[in-house]
Amino acid sequence: MPKPVIIALDDDLSVLNSVERDLRSHYGQGYRIVPLNEGRAALEYLKKLEQRNETVALFLVDQRMPDMTGTEFLAEAIQTYPQAKRVLLTAYADSQAAIDSINEVGLNYYLMKPWHPPEERLYPVLDELLDDWKAHVRLPYEGIRVAGTLWSLTSHEVKDFLTRHQIPYQWLDIEKDPAVRALVENVSADLKLPVIFFPDGSTLTQPDLAVLADKVGLQTRAGLPFYDVIVIGSGPAGLAASVYAGSEGYKCLVIEKAAPGGQAGSSPKIENYLGFPAGISGDDLTRRAVSQAKRFGVEILSAQEAKSIEVKDAYRIVRLNDGTEISSHAVLMATGASFHTLKMPGADSLTGAGIYYGAAYTEAMNYKDQHVFVVGGANSAAQGALYLTRFASHVTVLVRGHEPTASKYLVDALNANEKIEMLLNTDLLEVKGTHTLEQLVIKNTRTGEVQTCDAAAMFVFIGVRPQSQVVAGLVRCSDRGYIYTGPDVMVDRKPPPGWTLERDPFLLETSVPGIFAAGDVRYGTNHRVASAVGEGAIAYALIKEYLKML
Ligand SMILES: Cc1cc2nc3c(=O)[nH]c(=O)nc-3n(C[C@H](O)[C@H](O)[C@H](O)COP(=O)(O)OP(=O)(O)OC[C@H]3O[C@@H](n4cnc5c(N)ncnc54)[C@H](O)[C@@H]3O)c2cc1C
Repeated sequence: MPKPVIIALDDDLSVLNSVERDLRSHYGQGYRIVPLNEGRAALEYLKKLEQRNETVALFLVDQRMPDMTGTEFLAEAIQTYPQAKRVLLTAYADSQAAIDSINEVGLNYYLMKPWHPPEERLYPVLDELLDDWKAHVRLPYEGIRVAGTLWSLTSHEVKDFLTRHQIPYQWLDIEKDPAVRALVENVSADLKLPVIFFPDGSTLTQPDLAVLADKVGLQTRAGLPFYDVIVIGSGPAGLAASVYAGSEGYKCLVIEKAAPGGQAGSSPKIENYLGFPAGISGDDLTRRAVSQAKRFGVEILSAQEAKSIEVKDAYRIVRLNDGTEISSHAVLMATGASFHTLKMPGADSLTGAGIYYGAAYTEAMNYKDQHVFVVGGANSAAQGALYLTRFASHVTVLVRGHEPTASKYLVDALNANEKIEMLLNTDLLEVKGTHTLEQLVIKNTRTGEVQTCDAAAMFVFIGVRPQSQVVAGLVRCSDRGYIYTGPDVMVDRKPPPGWTLERDPFLLETSVPGIFAAGDVRYGTNHRVASAVGEGAIAYALIKEYLKML
């Protein structure tokens, strides 16, 4: 596959040479740098690139050129390459033109000339734009292909895993294409699904997720035997704590049983997180947070579940699913919460085969022009329903109460969307289907009316339960499993039995010294991204205090 192209366009040859040199030294390995000095000629050149099926990642364009302005060039260029990122190079006098083109051509950034030193003024901006481009671009397909069926839970799990790690893949449905079925049968005669085809010609059949993680180059083994702090869970709380720990030079390991981002990572659009007035998708926020953490030297293990924690003097030893043990001085429980699963007959066997828990993001596109259901009335359900309307013909939202509990802006959006129908006071009684979900039986609790509806899929977003099993029996938790911290662990205003230190537990410390909790798993939290991030940051500050006292 040819390298994606970065176009640098400037009529001033000395400036162009200088831009080209800076771009080539930093991006030459991954991109083909094409310097051009005339707008019209550049547009002709784009046509040739298009014919050769080459991709443009970025336009870096001078605003003031004799034959056309940079904005005029971009307006035409993005007709051919709408996904390419757009940056204008401007002189101070042109800054208003640049501001105007934010709207006219969706300008991503404008840089003032001169841009030296590029390490400070050019590369950070372009790095971020190119990362974003890479995360969203659709290249001519040469990557990983996953072949399976819509009714296979293991296919769903693999797709979800790759999606949540933002690893691009092509989905091949063996029921829709006999050629795909034949391809799969060559590798897996008994049709064990999914079969994953890699660009190097190798395949994996129904792999364990840790094996898949290894194969796609994710870290699954800790690099060190000992860390200052181990964070369990890489949702917003865990990632925030790790960014602060890493940035202050502490050796920090994050252990994640699935994929980074946690619940927030599955949100199609987070609209109430400070600093993102137009909203930000969970995967975008996660990608930014993960690269930030890694930049500070944090190790993040994927597809590794923490099973238990043992306390040995000043050490906290975390045991993983595969038996590996990793030691640290402090542990942060940032394991969040997960949705309740349906307990009714048939629901288990249809999970991943039409019934999905919170996975609107991964599966929505498979239900194009079909009628799907969402169960739940809180923010996550509302977001899921709105996202599903991009693909489904009709989305019915089943709400148990007499009104949804989602935030007002989301309820307004649900009401305004013609594809969405909300059924209030409605209980789900039964799910029906042989290989895949076919029907739901629902009851209006006001009128007692029971009806059976055809359903292509159902996305469940009900209740949340804390994922605190790792410390069950070790630290004090509420009846529902939320971990008590700080004042909540005190008994009659005294530290809990077994507490060995002179001081009281820190605000986010559990009933065991050196084990902290933050985010949705913590008793008293309010289940918001910002709260989780804030608690992660505070937990780190308290862990730092704890480490100083050792
Ligand atoms: C679909 C959806 C939309 C949402 N939208 C919004 C919104 O718009 N605004 C808002 O403020 N909030 C929103 N929320 C809520 C918000 O996402 C959560 O409050 C937040 O993610 C909690 O962060 P956390 O880090 O505490 O836990 P989580 O995000 O739950 O992350 C916990 C992580 O720990 C991992 N883990 C658990 N147990 C283990 C173990 N034993 N070993 C290793 N790893 C483990 C999990 O796999 C998970 O990745 C939404 C939630 C959902 C589900």
